[in-house]
Amino acid sequence: MLADMAIGVETARYQTWRAAWLVDQGRYSRYASSIAKCYATDVAMRITTDAVQIFGGYGYSREYPVEKYMRDAKLMQIYEGTNQIQRLVIARALLKGEADGY
Ligand SMILES: Cc1cc2nc3c(=O)[nH]c(=O)nc-3n(C[C@H](O)[C@H](O)[C@H](O)COP(=O)(O)OP(=O)(O)OC[C@H]3O[C@@H](n4cnc5c(N)ncnc54)[C@H](O)[C@@H]3O)c2cc1C
Repeated sequence: MLADMAIGVETARYQTWRAAWLVDQGRYSRYASSIAKCYATDVAMRITTDAVQIFGGYGYSREYPVEKYMRDAKLMQIYEGTNQIQRLVIARALLKGEADGY
């Protein structure tokens, strides 16, 4: 689980940096930004859910921050464009051929 968490975090970080780098280059890409938002927040949800399990009873208790991280991760999948809508944006970009050359 820890290894999968690390893989997810590192991959999400690269997606986020790539989207930010494109903005810095004056090449804002809705496609890249949606992939970064969707992927990073889905990874956050998976990781924090696994963390609740790893921490055992403490993971579920409000005395420790882990359950709060899981609730925060859920919210991140929803706000600033839900991940369902991000997926619509990504699919539309693919169908319009806007996913190339970014
Ligand atoms: C605590 C909290 C705070 C929030 N704060 C903010 C905020 O400050 N700013 C902000 O922008 N948003 C915020 N949101 C997110 C906002 O509530 C959601 O974007 C919500 O979906 C708004 O749309 P709606 O209520 O009309 O629901 P709908 O648009 O009906 O959406 C309901 C659900 O259906 C899904 N859905 C809708 N259309 C499609 C489709 N075509 N295909 C697949 N799935 C679809 C959506 O992804 C969503 O999960 C917050 C959410 C929560 C839970």
